[in-house]
Amino acid sequence: VKSIAVLTSGGDSQGMNAAVRAVVRSGLYHGLKVYGIQRGYQGLLNDDIREMDLRSVGDIIQRGGTILQSARCQEFRTEEGQKKGAEILKNRGIDGLIVIGGDGSYQGANKLSKLGIKTMGIPGTIDNDIAYTDFTIGFDTAVSIVVDAINKLRDTMSSHERSSVVEVMGRHCGDIALYAGLASGAETILVPEVPFQLDKVAERMKENFAHGKRHSIVVVAEGYGKADDVVESLNKVGGIDARVTVLGHIQRGGTPTHNDRVLGSRLGDFAVRRLIEGDSGKGCGVINGELIATDIDKVVNSKKPFNMELYELAVRLSQ
Ligand code: ATP
Repeated sequence: VKSIAVLTSGGDSQGMNAAVRAVVRSGLYHGLKVYGIQRGYQGLLNDDIREMDLRSVGDIIQRGGTILQSARCQEFRTEEGQKKGAEILKNRGIDGLIVIGGDGSYQGANKLSKLGIKTMGIPGTIDNDIAYTDFTIGFDTAVSIVVDAINKLRDTMSSHERSSVVEVMGRHCGDIALYAGLASGAETILVPEVPFQLDKVAERMKENFAHGKRHSIVVVAEGYGKADDVVESLNKVGGIDARVTVLGHIQRGGTPTHNDRVLGSRLGDFAVRRLIEGDSGKGCGVINGELIATDIDKVVNSKKPFNMELYELAVRLSQ
């Protein structure tokens, strides 16, 4: 490839800027022309494309969000939309594209790969729901934000001997709830991967109170259910007075942790090098610290395995 472009797509995540910076600077380092596409696939179809230089990505590594902005685009889901996108890239002489985003964004990249554009996907999503990578860019920062919020809740909950139900992001994947729950010593972690009856949760909380626990934190991933419903059922079954906190989009903002910046930098550079080697239709990731590229077909059709070992540890330690 001689000329590449980069876009961010789907939900944004902290560390996307580090990945954009790495793509641009690594591409330039290797003598490529590098373009930035604004607002994901929508921007591609609008030909909202500009050439990037070293300075275009200065002073962004520490910022949340994405300087390229992100969007969802219905038109790109259609065959005509995809063909139009490939044509626009070809007309500009762009033969390689790096897509930073989630599962859906990967599928778009795969379609372009089949239309003759060399593509690489980089996992940018706080949910950590992409198979073939241990971690996605933004996950580490999102977990830190949840842990920080739970620390604060604990102070006030223990003063009032109350319980708190904290709803966190994760539509199909309970990793934010799992890691944040373990790291903050939550008493209960509710995730879509593990069916758990709420009456058992209520019983356990009652027992804990009887044994001297002054407060209790339940972390629930949105893919398991709504915090409001959990509170209602804890109250009905166990007479437990719990308060709801829904963290929402706060989890997607703020300055990225060093882990997300390093991961974004490594994956951005890796994706560029794979394109230079002629690779295409791959999702980049990191497994046991090693950078790897896997066929997008495999990435999008497989569910990320849930870390039961970590979950069981959290249960054992939350007595
Ligand atoms: P998040 O994890 O934050 O939801 P995502 O990348 O999975 O990120 P989606 O909304 O699923 O978010 O996808 C982003 C964009 O990718 C869509 O708006 C659409 O333009 C494109 N896209 C999604 N699925 C496909 C598909 N099957 N074929 C072509 N393009 C797709």
